[in-house]
Amino acid sequence: MSEGTASRPPEPDEGGDPACWLRRVCPSCGRMADEDPPTTCPACGAEVDPD
Ligand SMILES: [Zn+2]
Repeated sequence: MSEGTASRPPEPDEGGDPACWLRRVCPSCGRMADEDPPTTCPACGAEVDPD
């Protein structure tokens, strides 16, 4: 594990990363879950995985 490499610039912490909410989108119906995955879709009950 080498996760502390200094070759990557620090990411801006402004909450504007699309991946933050894209991960929450239900793969079945497209609704956005109320919380970060892993969770279940509030609309159809499908599992929303982090990947
Ligand atoms: Zn759904």
